[in-house]
Parts: sequence; structure tokens; C-alpha cells
Amino acid sequence: MMEFMKYLKAAKEIAAIPKNDSDLLIAQYRAFTFQMPLMYVILMINTWGLAATHMHMAPWWMTIYIPVVMTVISAVRVIGWLRRSKQDATRDIALKALSRTQRLSGIIALAFTLWAFMLFPYGGAYEKAHVAFYMAITVIGVIFCLMHLRSAAFTVAFIVNGSFVIFFSLSGNLVFVAIAINTALVSAAMLAILLVHYRDFTGMVSARVENFRLANVDSLTGLANRRAFFSYLDNAYAKARSDGTRLAVGIIDLDGFKPVNDIYGHATGDKLLQTIGMRLGKVCPENYYVARLGGDEFSIVASNFGDTSELVATGELICSAIRTAAPLGDTTLRIGGSIGFAVYPDMASDTVQLFANADYALYHGKRTGRGRVTLFSVDHDAKIRSDAKIEQALHHANLEDELTVMFQPIIDVSSRSTIAFEALARWSSPTLGSVTPAQFIPVAERTGMILTITQTLLKKALAHALLWPGHIRLSFNLSAHDLSSPESVHDIIRQIERSGFNPARVDLEITETAFIRDFSQVRSATETLRSLGCGISLDDFGTGFSSLTHLHALPLTKIKVDRSFVTGLNKNPASYKIVKSLLALSRDMGLDCIVEGVETIAELAILKTLGDLTVQGYLYSRPIPADDVVSFLEQPATAA
Ligand code: C2E
Ligand code: CA
Ligand code: CA
Repeated sequence: MMEFMKYLKAAKEIAAIPKNDSDLLIAQYRAFTFQMPLMYVILMINTWGLAATHMHMAPWWMTIYIPVVMTVISAVRVIGWLRRSKQDATRDIALKALSRTQRLSGIIALAFTLWAFMLFPYGGAYEKAHVAFYMAITVIGVIFCLMHLRSAAFTVAFIVNGSFVIFFSLSGNLVFVAIAINTALVSAAMLAILLVHYRDFTGMVSARVENFRLANVDSLTGLANRRAFFSYLDNAYAKARSDGTRLAVGIIDLDGFKPVNDIYGHATGDKLLQTIGMRLGKVCPENYYVARLGGDEFSIVASNFGDTSELVATGELICSAIRTAAPLGDTTLRIGGSIGFAVYPDMASDTVQLFANADYALYHGKRTGRGRVTLFSVDHDAKIRSDAKIEQALHHANLEDELTVMFQPIIDVSSRSTIAFEALARWSSPTLGSVTPAQFIPVAERTGMILTITQTLLKKALAHALLWPGHIRLSFNLSAHDLSSPESVHDIIRQIERSGFNPARVDLEITETAFIRDFSQVRSATETLRSLGCGISLDDFGTGFSSLTHLHALPLTKIKVDRSFVTGLNKNPASYKIVKSLLALSRDMGLDCIVEGVETIAELAILKTLGDLTVQGYLYSRPIPADDVVSFLEQPATAA
């Protein structure tokens, strides 16, 4: 009984179309788009051959009409298959076509068998032999062509061979009985081979599917990988273009992932990425395709979204999902994430631009504040164009002639004396006129020209400072790139040593952006500079995201409170509290503190209530040309 059930189950499986395995269905369907036309052609040639030998013996309707009807039906089927071979195969198309083939195979097998038997009584011995030959060769050919659909091949084999054996047994002619049995045996052997072949075929299909999966899935997070992302993007773009719909690309960057890797090790970093990958998958709606491009970079493609506000809302959900604390083993990690979006066709016309603009929006968003969603805008587009002009002009610039430095005094409020000057870069381009450092420094950083620019500016600033009284310090801005390698740090040291200016009178200003990427490199760079005697100031303090652990780990000597907290300080209690606590913090850490951007007497008056102060701002002086420094120093600093 058990055995019987086993066979029944196997038979059921053979008789079924693999509905649940869409890859197998599609592979079978693909094989069929070639084999089916071939099968019908064989069938027709054989049929007309048999019709021809019976032409003058059997009635016309048997030798002409029936073959014509069969030919028409076959031709329709052939055309259908040929047309399908040019279309993309989906699971539904494949299932429909295979189910139809399954149904038709029985009917057609029965029809051709009956027809052949009907001709049998009309011929002589040779013609009768032809009927037997027709049955045998056709059934073998058809089984062969139906190889990829077991159920159809078995149906045809049973119908044809069954009726063949019965019919010829009844004829009582031993030769025909032998032929029928022979054919049935060969068919059985073929079916056995077919089963083996089919098993290999399904194995091959699933291996191919698995290979495809491995090549397209990020093994760490199980999300789509870079390659899958870009091929998906190409398809989604083609569809959006033809449907006239919008398409968005979002790029996600984790803030503070690298330190996690450095401090807790790669295994923890990997776990964190897995957690975040899982959260992204959960938080994104169906129409958002999520991928990990590599490292801590994730990306999404959104199609059929409502409007950009929906996009931004989803982006915010993503950012807050990333921000949620991640308990990993015995530690709980907390990082942030920012997202940049670009939308087709609004602000990008192809996939390359879509991706580049999303990246640009991300980069710009991060400059104005981390953990937020930024949509690529008209302003960004204008900025890209003006940056391109700046880049061009920088490449052709004679840096030695066109770059100069201005100096802005840093004042000790209580003694009203100048204690230092901050060197600020100025570029006068023959083509663009004067370009502010806020415009050209970021471009120079991106194009790698910043190292040369720093060298030129530092040389000039030091040469001027050499003429100042001995108690006046020089403050000089370094960019993140200046600290990014031991070589570039070495160049700075060499420039200072060569100038003859006492390194102990130099303060090097760095910003928090410098150590987001590679904290340990920045630490060793600042330690080297510090051991030379230079002071290290943390510029624009309060705008970044650095933790206190970071600040403690760096050999800082000063903190510069960012201008944004000072503007309107007298009217804004929140700013007042921030400045107050930043001042307290720097005192606690034993660091000097400079308050930047003091513009009005009212601001200064409030600041004075917070204790002894060093300030910098338009209230005392704007940046002045190098030549004016000495005369500036001759008079006491007054709040103008
Ligand atoms: P920063 O280092 O924060 O420099 C202070 C900026 O604030 C200067 O702008 C200065 O002119 C301006 N400022 C000073 N006091 C006031 C004030 O009371 N009110 C207002 N509204 N602004 C004030 P500047 O010269 O345009 O420089 C902008 C930025 O460009 C600098 O910000 C710095 O990040 C960068 N930069 C300037 N020179 C250099 C340089 O030589 N190397 C590098 N890497 N960056 C530089
Ligand atoms: Ca500065
Ligand atoms: Ca500053």
C-alpha cells in the first residue's frame, strides 16, 4: 500500500506543471519556444507523407481535408510560439502557455492517432506498413520535442502507444503486433531517459537561479547588491520613461559607522550593518527597492510614489530607523544616517545623472546637518554649474599670483588687545573675479588641489607673520585633506620650519568634518603637529556631531564657538544657553575659547557677562590686508 502511494505521488508530480517554481516554468517555456514549432513541423511532414501514399485509395476528406485542417491548426500554433519567442517571459505567460500545451497534447495525439487508424483499412500491405511507421516515428519525435514538459510527453506516449498496441493486436498480424510492442518499448526507454534528463534540467535551472541570486545579493545583509541595484535602476528607468512616471533614487550614508568599526571591530560593524539592512527592508514600502552598495552605503529606487513629500516622509522614517539604538551583544550602538534623493524627470534626465544628483544632495545635506533628508533642488543644480566653472578656473589659475591672505584680529576683550590674527584666503581670478573661500575651498578639496593651495597660502601667511611683534600668534585654517596622510602633514611641517616662524606661535584650525572619516589618522596628524609646538584649534565648534570622547582624544588647545550661536545671541535664549555651556565645557577641558562672529555691541555685552573672553568678529574688525596689520596693532582694539 505504502509503495503504491509512493508511486501515485510520483505519478502526480510527473503529471503536474511546476506552478510554484516560476524560474523552472520560465526555463521550460523558453525551451518550448524553439521545440514546439519544430514538433509541429515534424508532425506536418509526417502527416502529409502518409496522406500522399493514401491519396488515391482513401476518400478525399481523409487525405486532403483532415490534413489541411490539421495543418491550419498547427500553423496557428507555430506562429503563436514564434511570436512568443520574441517577448519577455514572465511566470504568468509561461504558465498559461504550458497549461495550454498540456491540454492540447492529449487532444492532438488522439486526433492524429484516430486519423492514422482510419486510413489503415484503405491501403495495401506497403501502405499499412507506412501507417505503422508513421505512428512509431511520430510518437518518438513528439516525445523528444516535449521533453521539457514531462506531463505532456507522458500523455502523448500513453495515448499513442496504448491505442497502437490495442489496434494492431486486434489486426491479428504478427508483424504489426511486433512493431507496436517494439515502439512501445522504445517509447518507455525514451520516457526513462526523459525523466533523468528532466531531473538534470531542473537541477541546472535551480543552479542557475542560485548563481544569479549569489551574484545579485549582498551576502551580509541579504539585500540586493550593487550590481542588482544598477540593473534594477536601468529597468525601472526604462519603465518610468515609457510610462511617463516619476522615479527617485535615494542614497543613504551612515554617520559615524567608521568609528564603530575602529573601536568595536569588524564583527560588530557587520552586525550593525545587518541590523540596519533589516530595518531598511522593514521600513520601506513595497515600491521602494533597497540595496546595499558596499561599505556603509545603502541605496533605494522608488517608483510609483505619490509626490516628493511622500518621498521625504519615507526618507525621514528611514533616518529615524537608523537612529534607533541597536543593542548588539553587551553594547548598545547608536549611529545616524542621512539620505539624498533625486527625482526623474524633475531634476535628472538619465540614470547616471539621477544617481550623481542623489549623491550630491546627500553630500550637501550632510554639510548643513547630519541625519536628514535632502532633495536635489534647482539650487543644487545651479551650484553644480558654478562649481564646474570654479573648477575650470582653478585648474588654469596661477595660484602664486592670484591667491592672497587677509588677516582678521582675535581680541582679548578685557585688555582690548589683539592676541592673534586668523589668515583667511582670498582668490582673485582673472576670469571669475573675486571668489570667496567658502566657494573655492570645497571645490579644491574635491579635486585634490587643496594640498597645493594650502601650501601656497601657508607660505604667504607665514611670510607676513614673520614681520609681526613676537607676542602675536598666527591662526591658520587646515582642511580635512591636509591631515589625511602623513605626507601632507609632513609638507605642512616643512613649510613652517622653512619659514623661520616659531611653530609655537602657530594655531592650526581644524573642523569636525576632518575626523569623521578617519579619526585615528587625524589624531596622529594633530599629535605630530602638536609635538612640533603648534596649537590645535577646533573651528566651528558646536555645528558638527563629534562626541566628547572624540574631543578628549585629540590634543586640542583651543575651541572656536561657531558664529551661528552668536548671531542674535542677545535675543535668543537658546543660543545664549548653548554659548554658556560651550564656554563652561572648554574651561572644564582646560582649553582656551574664542567666540567667533561677534557683530554687535549688544552681543558683546551679553558675552561679557559670561566671564573673560577672546572674540573675533566684524565688531572689532573685518579681515584686513596684510599691509594694514602693523598699523592696526598700533592702536587699542575698539568695538566699532
Ligand atoms: P572660518 O574659518 O570660520 O572663518 C571665519 C569666517 O567668518 C571668515 O569668512 C570671516 O571673514 C567670517 N567672519 C568673521 N567675523 C565675522 C562676523 O562678525 N560676521 C560675519 N558674518 N562673518 C564673519 P571667509 O574669509 O569668507 O572664510 C570662510 C571660510 O572659508 C572659513 O571659515 C574657512 O572655513 C574657509 N577658509 C578661509 N580661508 C581658508 C584657508 O586658508 N584654508 C582653508 N582650508 N579654509 C579657509
Ligand atoms: Ca577658521
Ligand atoms: Ca569658524
